Amino acid sequence: MNFTDFGFTSELQNGLDAMGFNKPTPIQEMAIPIIQDGHDLIACAQTGTGKTAAYVLPILDRIARSDHSHLNTLIIAPTRELAQQIDQQIEGFSYFLQVSSIPIYGGGDGMIWEQQKRALREGADIIIATPGRLLSMMASDDVNFGYLQHLILDEADRMLDMGFYDDILRIIKMFPAKHQTLLFSATMPQKIQTIASKILKHPKQISLATSQPAEKIHQEFYFVNMDQKLPMTIDILKNPAYESIIIFSSSKENTKKLNTDLKKQV
Ligand code: AMP
Repeated sequence: MNFTDFGFTSELQNGLDAMGFNKPTPIQEMAIPIIQDGHDLIACAQTGTGKTAAYVLPILDRIARSDHSHLNTLIIAPTRELAQQIDQQIEGFSYFLQVSSIPIYGGGDGMIWEQQKRALREGADIIIATPGRLLSMMASDDVNFGYLQHLILDEADRMLDMGFYDDILRIIKMFPAKHQTLLFSATMPQKIQTIASKILKHPKQISLATSQPAEKIHQEFYFVNMDQKLPMTIDILKNPAYESIIIFSSSKENTKKLNTDLKKQV
């Protein structure tokens, strides 16, 4: 299967080509036709599977074909990092389209708050928001959800783990009755199924097998206290058996701190 099989506008296809997207991933092959047919969707897929493009592409295509002058799509994501990543992908795909997006996330200083508020007032086709910041903006500013057609909950399990369950339900209450809802989650615990039954209508379901590590990859797990993390990492880094190492960390702040701490040790 190729991206051309989805019949996207030539401008969107040009964006895909420019981003080096040649072949759809399995989640894209499965999800895009369902979204194009207008169904609600629950998709069980992890980061790295191409899940972002799976929902962004059919929505961009639909917006580009419509007479769009109102907020059309709300994407809710658990963290600022994810909201920024989604926004960057949208910017890349829509390089040749007249579609605009705004990321709305917490943290930062008053200037960022003002910039986000101004961007909201000036309007956009797509908002990518973290739940807490969106609710604050909704309380202080007039966000018009009256024309909303698509709601996407990305990494829904993480949002519930972070305690955003009530916030999400409060946001959804503002929406028009008729809209398409897409829920993406790496895992499907009972709480996700409960929220899905409340907010999705006759959803189609997709489940992608969780990826297994390659056979030759040896995995170890160390259970350590916070103050043991750095010495432990240094110990591992000193092991001559490893030629190059990639370290993944939970947030931008932790990554920066680890980098500084490690540099001090060299
Ligand atoms: P995601 O799972 O949405 O976080 O995507 C993981 C990474 O894969 C991102 O950097 C995407 O830009 C990239 N990606 C997703 N789908 C494709 C595709 N069909 N071809 C090439 N790269 C892709």
